[in-house]
Amino acid sequence: MIATVSCLVCDTALEVAEATEKGEIVECGSCGQEHEVVGAADGRFTVEFAPEVEEDWGE
Ligand SMILES: [Zn+2]
Repeated sequence: MIATVSCLVCDTALEVAEATEKGEIVECGSCGQEHEVVGAADGRFTVEFAPEVEEDWGE
């Protein structure tokens, strides 16, 4: 199953795979904004603006 969330910038529907977990990043295909999945329950997802990654977390 695929769920959708709305881009926080341009309101484009973003497809989110059901297996997506918290902390994963979903990028808008229209404006390029990255969203971090902050909630995932019952196939419904909540996203927030992803923090800009400036540090290399390694691994
Ligand atoms: Zn967008």
